[in-house]
Amino acid sequence: MGVDKQAVTEARKKAREAASDRIKQAQQWSPESLAEAVCAGNRDALAQAITWVESAAPDHQRRIESLLSHLPQPGNSLRVGLTGIPGVGKSTFIERFGIDALAQGRRVAVLAVDPTSQRTGGSLLGDKTRMQQLSMHPDAFVRPSAAASTLGGVARATAEAIHLCEAAGYDLILVETVGVGQSEVTVRGMVDVFLLLLIGGAGDEVQGIKRGVVEMADLVVVHKADGDREAACRSTKGAYQQALHLLPSPPSGVSPEVLLASSLTGNGHDDVWSQLHTLVDQWKASGWWEAQRRNQRLEAMERHARELLLEAHLNAKASLWQSLKDAVENQSLNAYSAARRWVLGESNDQGPTS
Ligand code: GDP
Repeated sequence: MGVDKQAVTEARKKAREAASDRIKQAQQWSPESLAEAVCAGNRDALAQAITWVESAAPDHQRRIESLLSHLPQPGNSLRVGLTGIPGVGKSTFIERFGIDALAQGRRVAVLAVDPTSQRTGGSLLGDKTRMQQLSMHPDAFVRPSAAASTLGGVARATAEAIHLCEAAGYDLILVETVGVGQSEVTVRGMVDVFLLLLIGGAGDEVQGIKRGVVEMADLVVVHKADGDREAACRSTKGAYQQALHLLPSPPSGVSPEVLLASSLTGNGHDDVWSQLHTLVDQWKASGWWEAQRRNQRLEAMERHARELLLEAHLNAKASLWQSLKDAVENQSLNAYSAARRWVLGESNDQGPTS
């Protein structure tokens, strides 16, 4: 007993010292040294760097810019977005998919975008014990969802987190989202391939999947196709294959395949991999791969510009914003006129002035 107690005390002391070292280290990072440590594959540094880019504080912007400017340009990575309603088996799918990727010699990073965490104040995706094997593997990095206060903030943080993970040598980046809203559009704009997981036997309404989300998919997987679910999954696969044929051809030029998979048995995962490789090869040959990444870079620039402009203008014209808000709230001014007056300082009608 005595020995055990001593061992526990010793272990606690060590853990405290290690935590305090990490805190000290975190305080000491300069953007250059942090970028260097990230590129050297230091996991604590990567986690710290992602925390930096999640920060919305205006006085952190310079150091974020400096950090990002010290990273190499993204190399030969594959970015895969993955969506589906809670319970469809995303974590289980990613765990198996990620472990397969590790066996192929890849290094795997998993990031999550979970807008519901803004409402609950905590991260739903992060709170569960998820992807246990993957998160313990030395060549994998699993990060729970970004703790930003707006979807815009989450988007910015996630895009930069992808860049950081790539700089740290992860060449398969999986970005997970919950499949029920605007965040899918955001994630679609950051990844090379977007994968939709569906439950067999349930209609679109039951699945909570919006048509727009189906239209964004490059690959549809009817998941949990095992045991007595298999027949229902097959019929869902048929229904989706037909429905997808009716949609206009996607910008990539390749209509999405519908596949069956189970992450309990592993059946179908080989097909998912082979279809992914086929898409990548086709898109690299057709030029879509590079065109899509180029467009995404430009979209990211525009997104940053919008955010920075709005923030700068909000700071500069805070009191006018407040008085215009009051006017819109009590209907003495319409929203369009208020916005024009705030941005351009002009309007035809009466209302508050700065
Ligand atoms: P998420 O909320 O989408 O991340 O879903 P989870 O990965 O947490 O899985 C939800 C439940 O579905 C868990 O109980 C899993 O064990 C189960 N599940 C996941 N994948 C499969 C599968 O391929 N087949 C079956 N039968 N169950 C699965």
